[in-house]
Amino acid sequence: YHTLRVVLGDQLNAAHKWFRKPEAGVLHLIAELHPEATYVKHHIQKLCAFFLAMENFAKALQDAGHHVQYLTLDDTQGQTLESLVLGMAKAYQVSRIQLQRPDEYRVMMDYQAIASNASVPVSLTDTEHFMLPFEEIPRHFKAKTTIRMEHFYRKMRQRFNILMEEDHSPVGGNWNYDNANRQALKQKDLAHIPEPLLFSHDVTHIVQRIEQHQIPYIGKAQTQLLWPVSRHDSLTLLQYFCDHLLPNFGRFQDAMTDQTPHGWSLYHSRLSFALNSKMLHPSHVIKAAVLSYRYRKDIDIAQVEGFVRQILGWREYVRGMYWINMPDYHEQNALNAERDLPEYFWTGDTKMNCLANAIGQSLDYGYAHHIQRLMVTGNFCMLTGIHPDQVDEWYLGIYVDAIEWVELPNTRSMSQFADGGWVASKPYAASGSYIQKMSDYCSSCHYNVKEKVGEQACPLNSLYWRFMIQHRDKLLKNPRIGMIYGNWDKQDKAQQDAVLERAEWCLDNIEAL
Ligand code: FAD
Ligand code: SF4
Repeated sequence: YHTLRVVLGDQLNAAHKWFRKPEAGVLHLIAELHPEATYVKHHIQKLCAFFLAMENFAKALQDAGHHVQYLTLDDTQGQTLESLVLGMAKAYQVSRIQLQRPDEYRVMMDYQAIASNASVPVSLTDTEHFMLPFEEIPRHFKAKTTIRMEHFYRKMRQRFNILMEEDHSPVGGNWNYDNANRQALKQKDLAHIPEPLLFSHDVTHIVQRIEQHQIPYIGKAQTQLLWPVSRHDSLTLLQYFCDHLLPNFGRFQDAMTDQTPHGWSLYHSRLSFALNSKMLHPSHVIKAAVLSYRYRKDIDIAQVEGFVRQILGWREYVRGMYWINMPDYHEQNALNAERDLPEYFWTGDTKMNCLANAIGQSLDYGYAHHIQRLMVTGNFCMLTGIHPDQVDEWYLGIYVDAIEWVELPNTRSMSQFADGGWVASKPYAASGSYIQKMSDYCSSCHYNVKEKVGEQACPLNSLYWRFMIQHRDKLLKNPRIGMIYGNWDKQDKAQQDAVLERAEWCLDNIEAL
């Protein structure tokens, strides 16, 4: 071989120019690596999904005539990415190494080390995945600076001509249908929630390998994997989403329920793993959704715009924020949060029903939808002041779609406000009343959502006020929050003291909540 190309586990893009036609003398390396399996404790389904998707990708390339070396954990024991790539380059005496741009800072550092230590030229090419070219990130984003998603999103809509009229106005007249996208599920809606499309891939051999190599993991090892692990699966899931879930996607985007077996997935696409592993291209997903909207009468603009916003807006935006702020992002802790993550984040064993549901399904499936991540687990961690390093570690490990470029800005910035406001214009802090409005969790909870004080009082109610008072100096100036203090100041001192006392009790007894 004259060329060694490295394909990472999240670079499974079959449409990449590398794979247009087989080339003699070019070897593609796809490898399960111990450091990648252990840099954080991953969910077992996440490990299985990546390894099986990598195996399938390697096989598809081989079937198409490409030269591929697939290495399992058995083959790469003791190797780092750098030692493996340099060792392979030497063993095959290649005259060049080719890499695709990694999405994570950690891997970028590995690649820089490879480039410095290789005895042959090393080149970096684009992954051809994101809509915004990497080089343009500095044009849209500025380090340690507030950049609003909405502004960026509108530019992307115009640039890629998505849901735009000929006169350059947004389809439907509005850029944003957030107000139509905040419905809770009513009893009558529950019976109509479609079953999620689940795959059942046999991962026995992967689970065995993971256990044999004593890779620590989160969740219960199952031999059947429900996540998409090939381009074919990914396209099937996308089609299922457009046919059955998109018609109600926006409407119930923020809703939560424990009253149906499908409550864990609702109308969400669960395409994040297929997207983040690059089996699906974002523009393909967007086109499929927009086409469904154009040809079907049961999909209105609020549904499709809500979906497009997540992918063309949020997903591209958080990637820009990640790269412009790395590596300093890791150091941000604007609210000086120092507490340890309670044990029930690893078991789901808490009396708080909202948390028990969001954590429980994360442990079961490696998945929770956005509002559960942001407003249930995220909100709880922010109100109780859990150290953002521990919050990040949990989110980075537990979700099947968790890769640092997308996890970190969502967790540290959006959910914990640890950046002091680069991403969110205010902390996403909420008392129990938000959960009550958007879910049915409270009706079967040990705690009473209407109470602020007393043993039965929903912990979030007092914790919310403690958080607001603790950070009053920072938040008072914020026009979206300042007025909330009026409500607090109107209460008499005894009531205020009782609420703060209950909050202190909750914090002192956080493991028992
Ligand atoms: P859907 O609700 O169907 O949305 C469609 C797609 O839009 C998703 O697949 C995803 O690609 C994209 N999307 C939606 N919201 C966001 C967002 N805020 N940022 C980036 N992309 C978005 N997403 C990840 O992919 N990986 C993560 O590690 C991750 N960590 C998160 C941590 C926290 C604290 C929060 C609040 C959000 C996080 N998200 C993460 C964003 C979002 O919650 C998930 O993308 C979404 O829940 C995945 O499920 P889905 O595919 O069913 O999404
Ligand atoms: Fe969560 Fe409070 Fe509702 Fe219980 S009462 S489910 S703790 S919000």
